[in-house]
Amino acid sequence: MKRSVWLILFGVLLSLSFSIRASAADLLAMSEAEKEFIRGIVRETLREFTATLTATAVKKEKEKEANTGAKDMLREIAQSNRGFMSRTRPEHFVHLAEGQHPRATVVTCSDSRVHTHALDATPDGDLFMVRNIGNQIATAEGSVEYGVHHLHTPLLLIVGHVACGAIKAASGDYGKESPTIKRELDTIQIPKGDAGLNSVKLNVNNQVRQAMGKFQQEMADGRLIVVGAVYDFSNEMKQGLGKLNIVNVNGETNGANIARLELMQGLDTPAAKPVLRYGPKRKLPPKPAAAEEH
Ligand SMILES: [Zn+2]
Repeated sequence: MKRSVWLILFGVLLSLSFSIRASAADLLAMSEAEKEFIRGIVRETLREFTATLTATAVKKEKEKEANTGAKDMLREIAQSNRGFMSRTRPEHFVHLAEGQHPRATVVTCSDSRVHTHALDATPDGDLFMVRNIGNQIATAEGSVEYGVHHLHTPLLLIVGHVACGAIKAASGDYGKESPTIKRELDTIQIPKGDAGLNSVKLNVNNQVRQAMGKFQQEMADGRLIVVGAVYDFSNEMKQGLGKLNIVNVNGETNGANIARLELMQGLDTPAAKPVLRYGPKRKLPPKPAAAEEH
């Protein structure tokens, strides 16, 4: 039992003993008001004691519930992992153990509704993932740099999404958030009062612009293309549920102009061959010494 509970219990006993002694020696001499005063102290002490016991029981119950949630989730993760291990060919791991040669650095929001399987059927070894609230360059600059400078991914893909909580927060008053959360919202530059699709797109465009400033040389050399997209799981953009809508290519945001780009041709055509389940997907360039797994 907590120390505070024992202290209260001690207070109850002290009050009771005082009350009994008072009854024995002085009760007759006490006025009714004095007796009521003592009864009041005892009642209040007992009330506080009961309230403390109840609060402690409620807290323990909540802790138990939280632990059950974590335990259930961890069990599911372990089961999923066992399933993954048993159905994956050993060659897959041999390939991964050799190192990583991803073809895209992807910056997405941490939102649990946005995941790699929406973008790539075989993301292992192929997507260098950077995730944070609001799919930002500024709050994960080193990671993005690592993907572009050390892993030499030819594509930097920035993925925003509809109904983004970070956009909602950044468009409102987030003054009561913790300093660390505030710091990660400060770098989302959108107008106040607009938490919708326009702000989601604006944020993606801002990220593309920052990336273009940062990786000017790679882009000028033709070694990097920066693409901004919005993952739409509620069909707000009327392009179909779950569509990854490309809204920015190397700073171009006009839909008609984007559609004309050579890069965009054939994107909606189904792959001629089934997607290779595992294995290298590109001819590997000479591997820089610094390119290590992450
Ligand atoms: Zn989000």
